[in-house]
Amino acid sequence: MTASLEQYEQILGKDVIQRLRQLAEPLKGINVVHINSTREGGGVAEILHRLIPLKNELGIQASWEVMTGEDEYYQCTKSMHNALQGDRLDIPERLLKQYESTNQQNYERLRSQLEAADVVFIHDPQPAPLLNLCTERKGKWIWRCHIDASHPYRLVWKYLRPFVQGYDASIWSLPDFAQPMPHPLYIIPPSIDPLSDKNVELEPEMMEKVCHDYNLDPNRPILLQVSRFDRFKDPIGVIQAYRMTKAFGPPVQLVLAGGSATDDPEGEEVLAEVRAAAQNDPDIHILVLPPDAHRTINALQRVSDIVLQKSIKEGFGLTVTEAMWKGKPVIGGDAGGIRLQVINHHTGFLVNTPQGAALRIRYLLKQRHCLNQMGEKARTFVRENFLLTRHLREYLTLMLAVTR
Ligand code: UDP
Repeated sequence: MTASLEQYEQILGKDVIQRLRQLAEPLKGINVVHINSTREGGGVAEILHRLIPLKNELGIQASWEVMTGEDEYYQCTKSMHNALQGDRLDIPERLLKQYESTNQQNYERLRSQLEAADVVFIHDPQPAPLLNLCTERKGKWIWRCHIDASHPYRLVWKYLRPFVQGYDASIWSLPDFAQPMPHPLYIIPPSIDPLSDKNVELEPEMMEKVCHDYNLDPNRPILLQVSRFDRFKDPIGVIQAYRMTKAFGPPVQLVLAGGSATDDPEGEEVLAEVRAAAQNDPDIHILVLPPDAHRTINALQRVSDIVLQKSIKEGFGLTVTEAMWKGKPVIGGDAGGIRLQVINHHTGFLVNTPQGAALRIRYLLKQRHCLNQMGEKARTFVRENFLLTRHLREYLTLMLAVTR
């Protein structure tokens, strides 16, 4: 169930919501379409699930469409994603052809909607070619890049650039992530929804239930990383950090919770690597969760003592925001949007190695008052910067700017 704007007043105050309504007034009735490549799994889908209904509540006619394609299309776009994050991956011609023909097919399917929209938001590279295919466009087209494209593999970026440079504007999560473009660039960090199943307050029974269901001992420290099984999230590094922590003392438990996004063909392979690395350790809990396990993830984040997000590359890292909102200090990889959230020594620690992570875990588990203080700061930081209402406000401002 989607929360209504009124319910946010209780958490954020009347003024915040009033301001949203004022901003949306001139946008009432406009037609907005968002396109991405998966309805479940990953941060983009997570945000769209929340943003679209709120835009509608404000009187905007917002809809969300998802690209459909064959395996080779997803292989191609996964490689593009990795290459934008810096991997030197030469994508075979065959896959690029599939990428283009899949976009063509999706264009045919979505044509009337795309042509009629006042604003089209295209998320990430998967649907990027739709713009050049749309010859009769009425509205403004915005490319929303959620990826850290600060150091892309040049050959792949050279291929993608002609698809994205014709947009009317682009949005990036951080200034550092952006590439120069011939159109206006906007910086809008993502957000979490405090009222979604993923983040809402839970009954204590729910926490007891996850401990029971997954065989976790609530009397021993619990470390958690929630992530798709993806090498950039460094799940193996997390297992190493856990082992180093445990070698010197506290009998910690580790939960690696993830699922796979439907647009991520590498997940199974990485999961097998993670299972091999865990070596049947009974205190390492590898949980493969269905895409709608939001309350379970919420409860796992709440029962944890420390949340890790040891990514080597990261777009923004919504899992970091989610954990911080639950008052957990995060030990995060010194990468991408994690840097924007984990203020070193204040809301958590930034680390570069498993050794570094282990050191910080041991410190926090010994200094409980420090752990709690950091957790409180983390929650306040999220309240002030990374909740959905701020995100929505910035989208509204952008739509006002581009439709004027
Ligand atoms: N997530 C989930 N189930 C999983 C793994 C992740 O619901 O098994 C959610 C997670 O809670 C977060 C989002 O997917 O909301 C992941 O976003 P993030 O920005 O951390 O990473 P991405 O997957 O976009 O790289």
